[in-house]
Amino acid sequence: MTFRSGRHFLQIPGPTNVPDRVLRAMDQPTIDHRGPEFARLTLSILEDLKSVFKTTGDVIIFPSSGTGAWEASLVNTLSPGDKVLMFETGQFAMQWHRMAKNLGLNAEVVPNDWRHGADPAQLEKLLKEDRQHQIKAVAVVHNETSTGVTSRIPEIRKAIDRAGHPALLMVDTISSLASIDYRHDEWGVDVTVAGSQKGLMLPPGIAFNAIGPKARAAAKSSRTPKSYWNWEDILATNKSGFFPYTPATNILYGLREALRMLHEEGLETVFARHARLAEATRRTARAWGLEILCLNPEEYSNTLTALLMPEGHDADNLRQVILERYNMSLGTGLGKLQGRVFRIGHLGDFNELMLAGTLCGVEMGLAAAGVPHKQGGVLAALDYLAAGGKTQTSVQAAAKTA
Ligand SMILES: *Cc1c(COP(=O)(O)O)cnc(C)c1O
Repeated sequence: MTFRSGRHFLQIPGPTNVPDRVLRAMDQPTIDHRGPEFARLTLSILEDLKSVFKTTGDVIIFPSSGTGAWEASLVNTLSPGDKVLMFETGQFAMQWHRMAKNLGLNAEVVPNDWRHGADPAQLEKLLKEDRQHQIKAVAVVHNETSTGVTSRIPEIRKAIDRAGHPALLMVDTISSLASIDYRHDEWGVDVTVAGSQKGLMLPPGIAFNAIGPKARAAAKSSRTPKSYWNWEDILATNKSGFFPYTPATNILYGLREALRMLHEEGLETVFARHARLAEATRRTARAWGLEILCLNPEEYSNTLTALLMPEGHDADNLRQVILERYNMSLGTGLGKLQGRVFRIGHLGDFNELMLAGTLCGVEMGLAAAGVPHKQGGVLAALDYLAAGGKTQTSVQAAAKTA
């Protein structure tokens, strides 16, 4: 390896850049996880986490990857053979589905072209047809990280209500929580799955389940064998600030600091920042003449943008050129999108100049890799950001009234 000066640009859609404040907070001696100082830490974190999920209910922290929290959502609420409807929004949804099958659930896929979110109308129809209420749960990935498509969870909730169906609603927010508006209680979600290494700006290593009363009740009758993932054991020890096993103490220090940062900025400001940087990215993509994978503008992801390569050009070759020349990592195409798309992550501890650097790296990379595109696309983002992320019309309107 040759020496690379400057800093690496980690522009994959998770893990994201871990801010210095979080790194410093974690760089502390590990304490006794059965002692009073640790109990105070846990209790304050568990309370503060609620505001990020927008819930008054319980949030559980697992020392695991997001995948572990997927498993916890399924094994705690369902029983072998239970029917689960899962929307094929992309690679992550399909991995959750594969897990459900492995766990002995009757997991049914609602097919999708990987360019749209979960369809509320289709869900309503399927639930209305299920007169025996055999479907026990509906599982949706809020922000499909393989495609850059955000499903409309409030409309999914309304579809379930219109069908008058009692199925649980489980939502994966691993790449949306603390970046894109999300409301566990208000949207009537029963289990929310989340992870540490994306919007929460932490290293990988912890994951979450936010659980509503209906999920807690379902857990009482669930017959799926479980032990490590069992909510009840964790909730019981959490009451006094402890865990049934050794928790990821130092990542919890980091979480304490990340929650402070989110509260200092304000969640609504965090969401607006992500929306602004995402819109700037899309403007640049259009100016380059590259196609955005997501086809429905209402479902554009604010945390990442997946761009299609022109025919005959390989996305992984472009990514390799950009890594070698400019020391920047971009997201690869996952599953059936391998080689066809690359993904620009614009989430977490991220701002205007970091985005400008990111887009410049992509633009130089497109030229270096010989990918046909229009030059100067970055200017579209700079114009938009220089106007404070307002659309041209609103800037013109402001100029008129001034
Ligand atoms: C990253 C991600 C996962 C997987 O999380 P791991 O921590 O890698 O297990 C699942 N779902 C979504 C939407 C993700 O973005």
